[in-house]
Amino acid sequence: MLGCYDSRITLYSQQVRALELAHALHRTHYVAADAHVAVVGGGAGGLTMAAALALQGTATVHLFQRGPDLMPLQSAATRRRLDPHIYGWPTPGAEQVAAELPILDWTSGSAVEVRRALVREFDEVRAAVGDRLLVHTGHRVTRVTASGATFEVDFDADDPTGGLAPGARIVDLLVLAIGFGLERRQPIRGVQSESYWRDAGVPGGDIEGRGRPSVLVSGNGDGGLIDLIAAASRDFDHDVMIRTITRRPGVDRLSAPLATIDERARAADAAGQGFDFVAAYDVEVGPIADNLGLTDEMAGRLLPGVQLHLQTREPELMSIRTATLNRLAVYLVRRACGRSPRENFEHVVCTELDAVEPRPDHDAPAYALTCDGRRLEVDRLVVRRGPNRDFERQPFADLLRDYPDAHEAWMRRFPAEAIAPVLGRDARAHFEDLTRAHRLPSPGHRRAAEAAGAARRIKVALHGGEARWTGDVPLAGAATAWDAAGPPVTITVPAIPADLGALAYALGRLALHAQGGVMHVDVARWGAFLDGITTASRNAEDLDRPTLRPVDGSSDLAPERLTTDNMAARLGATLDRRCLAMIDEHLAGLLERGEDPGHVVDLAPAPEVAAAMRAIWAEWKAAFDRDPALLARFLRLLVCAQDGTAAADEARTLVGPRKRKLLVRATGAALAVATGWASTAPHPDEPGNLTHQTGAHARTGHVCAAERIGGRTTATEAASFLWRTDFVVLPMLTSPVAVARRAEERFDATDESEPTFAKAGAGPSLMLSVDPRFKAGVAAGLAQIAGLLSEAEAAHAARLGSGIERNVGGGRDLEEAA
Ligand SMILES: Cc1cc2nc3c(=O)[nH]c(=O)nc-3n(C[C@H](O)[C@H](O)[C@H](O)COP(=O)(O)OP(=O)(O)OC[C@H]3O[C@@H](n4cnc5c(N)ncnc54)[C@H](O)[C@@H]3O)c2cc1C
Repeated sequence: MLGCYDSRITLYSQQVRALELAHALHRTHYVAADAHVAVVGGGAGGLTMAAALALQGTATVHLFQRGPDLMPLQSAATRRRLDPHIYGWPTPGAEQVAAELPILDWTSGSAVEVRRALVREFDEVRAAVGDRLLVHTGHRVTRVTASGATFEVDFDADDPTGGLAPGARIVDLLVLAIGFGLERRQPIRGVQSESYWRDAGVPGGDIEGRGRPSVLVSGNGDGGLIDLIAAASRDFDHDVMIRTITRRPGVDRLSAPLATIDERARAADAAGQGFDFVAAYDVEVGPIADNLGLTDEMAGRLLPGVQLHLQTREPELMSIRTATLNRLAVYLVRRACGRSPRENFEHVVCTELDAVEPRPDHDAPAYALTCDGRRLEVDRLVVRRGPNRDFERQPFADLLRDYPDAHEAWMRRFPAEAIAPVLGRDARAHFEDLTRAHRLPSPGHRRAAEAAGAARRIKVALHGGEARWTGDVPLAGAATAWDAAGPPVTITVPAIPADLGALAYALGRLALHAQGGVMHVDVARWGAFLDGITTASRNAEDLDRPTLRPVDGSSDLAPERLTTDNMAARLGATLDRRCLAMIDEHLAGLLERGEDPGHVVDLAPAPEVAAAMRAIWAEWKAAFDRDPALLARFLRLLVCAQDGTAAADEARTLVGPRKRKLLVRATGAALAVATGWASTAPHPDEPGNLTHQTGAHARTGHVCAAERIGGRTTATEAASFLWRTDFVVLPMLTSPVAVARRAEERFDATDESEPTFAKAGAGPSLMLSVDPRFKAGVAAGLAQIAGLLSEAEAAHAARLGSGIERNVGGGRDLEEAA
């Protein structure tokens, strides 16, 4: 039985129920290989069930649908909108327009469009499975009889002459996907009512133009609420109504009060009591809605002079068994009417509504009714009292005798899951595998993404102070966005950088180094932010700003929720690991096989040097694997001279494939130095990213391949920059000078043609550049490297000593020695 007794029946939830049920049958080996299965009902639920069963086994599936069309309810409504997740609003992801189902997928649109998408994918499954899926349209199932382990399904089939041909089929398994039926044609005696699923059933246009158009909507289920809003609105457009509310800036402020009110209402409902939503909304929701401008917005959309009546049997205007969004919209209509002298909203309570003769005069409203004795006259009457469930269930009455009680007991065991079924990861993966195995075209959401040039999507949104990562690239696999071979990635971030803190930098980093990546964001604010770390970077050159587009739909698959800081940390660690692998790959080629394609490291180590570098690298890598913070510090200081917490997030954005050469070369240079200085290793704390232990004394070091320092080239700045470590390795500077500088040389005495970095630094740091002498040392052997380093240290000590002496003597060069 597919959801027919459940409380939350939406097209999407029925499909999820179908997929989960089919998957459960598969997992429990419930369907024999040669079984015959009957699915009764060719609505969205039945179609999904039949397709799922046919894809996952070898049984023969018979789909019975009365009348000529599949999904008949949705076949004629161009003005009714279907949104896959909106029923759950304001829960995260509810505004997502793509259903993102593994089969029979669709995106929000009119009922007709949604039907077209679903039937198209259903036909693709039919083509793939052949006669294991047999569709019997024009077959009304009239009775089902259980007999032992089988069922006899009796039906009346439409025959070409317009008659009915009775028939029967024996099946091993029966799935009832009969929905919950059609509305009664005459819900109030003597009054014809247009079906919800017909365009003529949408109230509005027919009463526009009257001075005080009046409408009565009977019934406060979702259909009634939506039609009340339609009747209240000028040019009703369901999509516009949804987006007016759900995309209002700051609307998340309503999430918490709406959720707590729903919780209280659900508790009251469970206790058999009603709940006064209007009273609760007046206190907890209305003032915020006013503040957000929502009430004004709704007032501006009201049909001028409209007189609204919503009739219910219960004393409360609204019920918890409806969508929060519909309830909020009706409340806003009511609140907007309350502010206006012309428009009016009235809640009418009565158990019976009877049609009586309207007044005979020409201008009289079309409908006259009595409501517990009170006479009401309206121009339009909309009756939304739900479908005739008993009529649909009648052919299965025997089978369903015990069902309601069993279902009640089941719902009590799984109260939350029963309200809003969720497609589990296992079921999703199962059907994704099946679509691949059957070589089916991608489901609709992937096709749309592929057509837009991006098959992989990441979305990061803020909800209740937490960041929510969704999409078809999981957080742990975020670095695949950097794969050159894979399809490009879109990164959708509705929040602005200022609200994301470190996470804004981490996401900027992800986009900056992604191949062809596009960010869907607030273009103005993200543009300014990203310029700061790319085209206007003070630490790096040659960076383009990622392509930016306005936010639109994305993917809501596989949600992961974390605080923004935790997500930034997780994302940062994932990307760092990718960079480590990138560096390792190149170094392995150099140190094991002497390969250095592109002269990235630009060193040709002697065999004994290569072996020593390999051994040191193995130790460093093990330390990086153990300690993500150590790796993060090491990498970011490779590409940025600025140390310190304030610069850390920005510096880290540079650590990625676009700066691969710098990262690899700097690591290679650091390793080469480490062969000459035993006990040199990455360093976890400020300052610097290296430490060199000599006896009891630890010297701090900074290996840095930054392209720019404070916006100016490293070549011109390195010497005057106040490095904070005892030594500095500058691998991008290949000065023709020795690894150490002579202390007595002054900057201003420098020949302009010789880079200033080649002079002594402004601070006390020993500066080592990878110049020809050093390269020659690396190519010669370990002793030569050690010799060069000793020479550099001695020269440095002499320089410091002479600087101090000169300061003591004449107070000169204070800055140089400071
Ligand atoms: C007023 C109203 C408003 C709604 N608004 C929304 C909305 O906005 N969004 C949303 O997602 N959902 C909405 N729904 C629910 C929507 O109808 C369902 O989501 C959707 O149709 C469920 O699909 P289904 O396959 O379960 O049932 P149905 O679409 O009802 O399909 C059942 C099928 O079974 C067939 N059938 C029944 N009995 C037999 C039989 N004996 N023999 C052969 N065939 C049979 C029927 O002809 C029908 O085609 C609304 C429903 C109503 C009544």
